[in-house]
Amino acid sequence: MMTNKINNVVIVGGGTAGWLSASLLAKVLGKHLSITLVESEQIGTVGVGEATIPPIIPFNAAIGVDEKAFIKATNATIKLGIQFENWGQQGEQYMHAFGGFGKDFPFCNFLNYWLRAKELGDTSSFWDYSINYQAAKRNRFNKLNTIPNTQLPGITYAYHFDATLYAQFLRSHAEKLGVKRVEGTVETVNTDEETGFVNEIVLDNKEQISGDLFIDCSGLHGLLLDKTLNVGFEDWSHWLPCDSALAVPCEHGEQAIKPYTRSIAHNSGWQWQIPLTNRIGNGLVYASKHLSDEDAKQLLLDNLPGKALAEPRLIRFRTGRRLKQWHKNVVAIGLSSGFLEPLESTSIHLIQTAATRLVKHFPLHGISDSLVAEYNRQSQIEFERIRDFIILHYKQTARDDSPFWRQCQQMEIPESLAHKMKLFEQQGLFCRQDDELFSEIAWQQVMLGQGALPQQYHPLAHNLTDEQLTEMLQNLKVLITHTSEQLPTHNEFLQRFGN
Ligand SMILES: Cc1cc2nc3c(=O)[nH]c(=O)nc-3n(C[C@H](O)[C@H](O)[C@H](O)COP(=O)(O)OP(=O)(O)OC[C@H]3O[C@@H](n4cnc5c(N)ncnc54)[C@H](O)[C@@H]3O)c2cc1C
Repeated sequence: MMTNKINNVVIVGGGTAGWLSASLLAKVLGKHLSITLVESEQIGTVGVGEATIPPIIPFNAAIGVDEKAFIKATNATIKLGIQFENWGQQGEQYMHAFGGFGKDFPFCNFLNYWLRAKELGDTSSFWDYSINYQAAKRNRFNKLNTIPNTQLPGITYAYHFDATLYAQFLRSHAEKLGVKRVEGTVETVNTDEETGFVNEIVLDNKEQISGDLFIDCSGLHGLLLDKTLNVGFEDWSHWLPCDSALAVPCEHGEQAIKPYTRSIAHNSGWQWQIPLTNRIGNGLVYASKHLSDEDAKQLLLDNLPGKALAEPRLIRFRTGRRLKQWHKNVVAIGLSSGFLEPLESTSIHLIQTAATRLVKHFPLHGISDSLVAEYNRQSQIEFERIRDFIILHYKQTARDDSPFWRQCQQMEIPESLAHKMKLFEQQGLFCRQDDELFSEIAWQQVMLGQGALPQQYHPLAHNLTDEQLTEMLQNLKVLITHTSEQLPTHNEFLQRFGN
């Protein structure tokens, strides 16, 4: 099957998904397309989604966003990683720090050398060898491609920002790139009787907007792919039992702005703290089966780092993904395509990769079955690999102090994750599957941080003598500590942007 040429693209929804998709399409394919975005002020956006991961930097560059203007406009701060507290055990903490650790060796990675040193009695922490971690804990940051006078990787960063300001910033960016915005609420979606393709949407003011390709960015409303085309949903709540969130901003309790997200596990879920320049974004993600909304609200308010600036807002969600992200002439991007809880800040990233994938597979000359199938294949793999990484945080735990944690500890997990966990525990190895998002070092940190210790390490770690190994680790530690101490504070860095 092959349709006619695609000239008119209609995006339904103006949240982060809508405006990011519009920006990329306009930037890359703007010459070939007419792009209209419909959004409803009356419905509004989900208003959360404030922590990101490092691939946002090249994405922003690709759509032509100026970093300085972006940081200033969105009250953004720097994110060097996520500090996980009480996840492996109560009272313990570790960080999933972005970027590299120690030094890379051919065939066998740094973890093996650290494991061998540990066996020899070295008590240094794995995180002593992360420049991101060392800078984060000192509240320091600067852009650093490499550690000065070495080939060792420097600092890898992402951002925290205000979700509402971000959508506004992207809107003005996309409009400058030629995207036409229409205000209104979609009331009816008309489909072709023969093909079932969407051919037109009708707004509350009766305006009719027709298109060749529709991008469903209507968020949890799922207006086109779900409610109109009835594409099924694969439910993952048996692996990820949280189904609710309460979000509330609060005042900064302290002067120094932390350059990392905090994720604090509680008895039936977890709490996020995302520092912006003018406030801290907070939320509690929880399983309503184990915690009532009232108790969740109290728990969140009792654990805020500053005075609440609003009433907590309740958001319900279902974890899983649409069985197809692209069906007929509708592509779902953002929350309409599926939901994975924000534990590793992956949703905005999934929007970026979906929009990028759409550009790469764009059906300028017509929609074909093979194009759609390939797009859906890649989307499925991407969702599943991230899902496994998030499940790992719940499964790899010694916590058994509540029904919620006992359920997580005892649950069956996907075979793909079980294989990874076993390989790590037995061999200290990692298998990267299908070009997945999270790197070996990311998996290592969560596994080690939550109590898994490999029984073996690679024999190549014996290529150094005991003395050489000790000297190398000592030098690395001194270098990383010293470099992090010399960086400007995070506040000083942000002040350069007028924040
Ligand atoms: C609790 C929580 C915390 C999160 N934290 C993070 C995080 O830290 N990092 C991260 O990367 N992601 C996070 N996310 C995900 C992130 O919020 C979303 O991926 C992101 O905001 C994109 O949302 P969206 O654009 O798909 O939907 P929305 O923001 O909800 O936008 C939907 C748009 O569709 C429009 N619309 C809906 N129905 C109609 C209609 N009938 N007519 C016209 N317009 C309509 C709305 O008006 C709106 O403009 C979080 C999500 C939740 C629920």
